[in-house]
Amino acid sequence: MDFSLSRNLAHDLEGFEAFLNNHLVPNVSSWNREREVPRGFFEELGRSAWLQYCFPAERDGQGALKQGLLFERLARTSPGVAVAVLVHVSLGLNALVLFGSEAQKERFLPQGLAGKTLMCTASTEHTGGSDVAGIAARAEKVAEGWVLNGTKAYVTNGALSDLAVVSAVTDPDASRTKRLSLFLVDLNSPGVSRTKLGKQVWIPSDLTRLQFTNVHIPEANLLGARGRGLQQILEIFTHSRISIAALTLGTATGAFSLALEHARRRTLFGTKVVDFQAKSFEIADLHAKIEAAALVVWKACWLKDQGREFRRVASTAKYVTVTIAREVGTWAADIFGASSVMLEHPVHKFPMDAWAASLGEGTQDVQKLVIFREIMKDGKALPTGWELD
Ligand SMILES: Cc1cc2nc3c(=O)[nH]c(=O)nc-3n(C[C@H](O)[C@H](O)[C@H](O)COP(=O)(O)OP(=O)(O)OC[C@H]3O[C@@H](n4cnc5c(N)ncnc54)[C@H](O)[C@@H]3O)c2cc1C
Repeated sequence: MDFSLSRNLAHDLEGFEAFLNNHLVPNVSSWNREREVPRGFFEELGRSAWLQYCFPAERDGQGALKQGLLFERLARTSPGVAVAVLVHVSLGLNALVLFGSEAQKERFLPQGLAGKTLMCTASTEHTGGSDVAGIAARAEKVAEGWVLNGTKAYVTNGALSDLAVVSAVTDPDASRTKRLSLFLVDLNSPGVSRTKLGKQVWIPSDLTRLQFTNVHIPEANLLGARGRGLQQILEIFTHSRISIAALTLGTATGAFSLALEHARRRTLFGTKVVDFQAKSFEIADLHAKIEAAALVVWKACWLKDQGREFRRVASTAKYVTVTIAREVGTWAADIFGASSVMLEHPVHKFPMDAWAASLGEGTQDVQKLVIFREIMKDGKALPTGWELD
């Protein structure tokens, strides 16, 4: 086992941190006020090749780790900006990589990797959140394509994006597992309306309701196979769970380091806060938990990059990081006392964003369902993935 980062990856990360110091850190407060991640930031990510970095050539075998490292670093400063990038990369571009035809990849990937065509994924409806198959949006077959009607309740990047991966019922009389298909929908098409929602988490990313009224979708924009939409969207979520686990780890590490720095500086009763034994025990306890969460996140990346089964560990990573980030986020806010409740305080976002992290790519309950199902499938009660081939 080798837990060190290669020299190349460590060098890349230094470059990414420099990129964030130039393009994110000085701007994030004004983006938070505007409640918008500007398109220019994605173009900078594309120009500096950080979007392409998330999709290395297959022989590289480090794509999941590279994505994870970037999301963890981004989220230390802004989980809200990190989630906007994650949705574009892991739910948008990755859906194209997994299920796009050669023609679709040729058409959309270069602009997506350049940060010029921005993407989102629209699955959740009021009738179907955790129950991904329980949606009502309907795509009806017509000559040369499909007509889409329905409403997607909560779409991250829905206001910002040009192109959405949308699930819809195409075969209403088929069984639950064969009723859905996925489509690439041009969000500038006639019949698409967008309503930005007033959320208080993951600022400054947008959360938007998308309404589709007789939207024409060309046949060429069916993503993957007709009737395989449920399996495909679940597959996209399974992959993206590793990314959101890394993002949530970054939420925990960002909160922890900010609060630790404050506890080192703040003097109360003639003592630094960090020197109260009660606080030092909390610091040690949370550090141990973050370390454990990090190990399972990097293990999930490693399994995926090795081409091994990663479903159980991806859900475990998501479950563990959310549990720990929630604990760390609230603790970090407590360390700052009253100042933590101010919207503009850098610690304020962490408890809120750790809370939100449960909702992306399946709630904590959904992760438990997956973990339990996987345990029952292979009958192995102990953690797996380290065995020899
Ligand atoms: C900030 C934010 C961003 C989002 N971005 C997107 C996006 O980009 N695209 C998108 O499509 N959706 C998005 N969503 C929606 C998100 O995916 C859903 O909120 C999530 O899947 C949960 O669905 P729900 O809200 O309908 O809750 P429900 O499914 O109604 O769940 C309610 C409760 O029941 C529990 N539960 C559900 N099923 C079970 C079960 N079988 N056993 C035990 N407990 C269960 C859940 O854990 C939860 O506690 C976003 C949501 C938020 C808040």
